[in-house]
Amino acid sequence: MLTNPSARLNREHRWVRKICLASASLCGPIWAMETKDRIFEDMSERRLVDLHVHTTASDGTLSPEEVVREAYQIGLAGVGIADHDTIDGLVPAMNAGNKLGIVVVPGVEINTDYGKDELHMLGYYIDPNSAYIRERLQQLRSARADRAAKIVDKLKAIGVNISMDRVRELADGGAIGRPHIARAIVEAGYASSMNAAFGKYLVRDAPGYVPRYKLTPFEAIEIIRQSGGVAVLAHPGLSHHDELIPELVRAGLEGIEVYHSDHTPLQSRHYLKVAERYNLIPTGGSDSHGPNNIKTIEIGSVTVDIEIVKRLQARASRTSVPDCR
Ligand SMILES: [Zn+2]
Ligand SMILES: [Zn+2]
Repeated sequence: MLTNPSARLNREHRWVRKICLASASLCGPIWAMETKDRIFEDMSERRLVDLHVHTTASDGTLSPEEVVREAYQIGLAGVGIADHDTIDGLVPAMNAGNKLGIVVVPGVEINTDYGKDELHMLGYYIDPNSAYIRERLQQLRSARADRAAKIVDKLKAIGVNISMDRVRELADGGAIGRPHIARAIVEAGYASSMNAAFGKYLVRDAPGYVPRYKLTPFEAIEIIRQSGGVAVLAHPGLSHHDELIPELVRAGLEGIEVYHSDHTPLQSRHYLKVAERYNLIPTGGSDSHGPNNIKTIEIGSVTVDIEIVKRLQARASRTSVPDCR
């Protein structure tokens, strides 16, 4: 529903950027201040929030601060940080949000397995200081790091020599994922693009494939709820397991990602109906992993109204997380 306003925002964003460039090159700091004031004046009119953005804390290419700044600059009211299996980006993002006066929704995206498929579970308004979620996510991350080492070994066995040290460097202290391995493969010249590296070496049935440590979607819901958060099924249009939704609802699912960059308008309409049927909060976000990634999806290209954020916040069972506005 709100993809068109986002496109408009992006156009305005480019226009504001042009003005900023002009201010820097032609008019000096007075112009720059006027531009900044105008952006601040618009804050009360900002309504759109991209609830699904990754940072360098997992496999994104922008730091948490850069993501928040970008969201602010393109005119969003807020941004949800939803890194894979880590909450390390939350505090830096929330601090940046406080400085700029933009809402930062603390989130996480937990990768789970259902049969042969992957299901992703988003958790919003989890307590960023919860020792419990930190510990559970740490276990998942070590399992991921073990998997990455196994993949690197398998690749070596077929003559693709990339080093685990380089993969770790590319993860830059964040959760190690297959995108980091793909980037190392491209760097070493074994594939022409990250996409090609995935297809040739890393997808299921490819020579470098290693199955992941399995976590069920039900366990993910439990982890999120134990940490005071609201569990939301991520991009259901990609996992094709609608039959599981009633059971997930019984287990404590409270939202569903209706709007996503890979959903067709038809899918979004379908999942909006599903949300209504099960009284789930209809969320949405771009799933941006930053520029120069497998594919570039712009922050703010999929958004929902700020009312959705208020509903998530109201459902979160905990009151200790400060309002980031
Ligand atoms: Zn996902
Ligand atoms: Zn994601």
